[in-house]
Amino acid sequence: MQAFFAYLERLDLVFLFLLFLLENAAIALVAVLLGFALDGLLPEMKRLISLKEIYWTCSTIFFNTLVTLTGYLLFKYGFIVFHLESSLLSIVIDFVVLIFAMDLLMYVFHRVIHQLSFVYRYHDLHHAYDTPTAISLFVLHPIEVLGFGSLWLLLLFAVDFSIYAVVIYLVLNVAMGIIGHLRKEFVPAALKHHECLQWLANTGFHVGHHQHEQHNFGFYTKVWDRLFGTLK
Ligand SMILES: [Zn+2]
Ligand SMILES: [Zn+2]
Repeated sequence: MQAFFAYLERLDLVFLFLLFLLENAAIALVAVLLGFALDGLLPEMKRLISLKEIYWTCSTIFFNTLVTLTGYLLFKYGFIVFHLESSLLSIVIDFVVLIFAMDLLMYVFHRVIHQLSFVYRYHDLHHAYDTPTAISLFVLHPIEVLGFGSLWLLLLFAVDFSIYAVVIYLVLNVAMGIIGHLRKEFVPAALKHHECLQWLANTGFHVGHHQHEQHNFGFYTKVWDRLFGTLK
């Protein structure tokens, strides 16, 4: 990991931007392909994806790149600190803290967005879908992308995490984004009534938010919706 950061240090701002742009574009492409594959809709992608969705996905990739670049520069100049060498236990603890802290921050941010009409008009773009597909995950107004990005950077600024926990969290963040925007339930029917599913988010949980906007504001867990009485 140190060697990777030493490599990034040698790059100029334009090259860094292009590298992060490529990274965010690759993440979006893999997420959309994987989501359509999980739904068994790969052959129908061309018919199901509109030009408007491609436009907003490109916009989200661009603004996510700005968030990535800002995060990297904050790290480079010491405003964000990562633990580069951590024990397995501290990686696990940091990962659990990241999940619950971001889930709570996103729950509050998301619920507030739904209460305030002057910001909801930006979030409304994402709510155009009551049966989302994987590309709906990236149909977000730049204000929303920068808002969620700022929450993320604020948490990294406030708390020093293991870099490995951060990487695992980012992978899970994309995975949960895909799972929440599928047409088919990701969790096998046999596990539908499992105790874990009373607390962890599944496809039906976030699709439920697209259909009932005053419920299911969480992203990774149902914990905060359960606690604050917004679970459907
Ligand atoms: Zn959604
Ligand atoms: Zn919403």
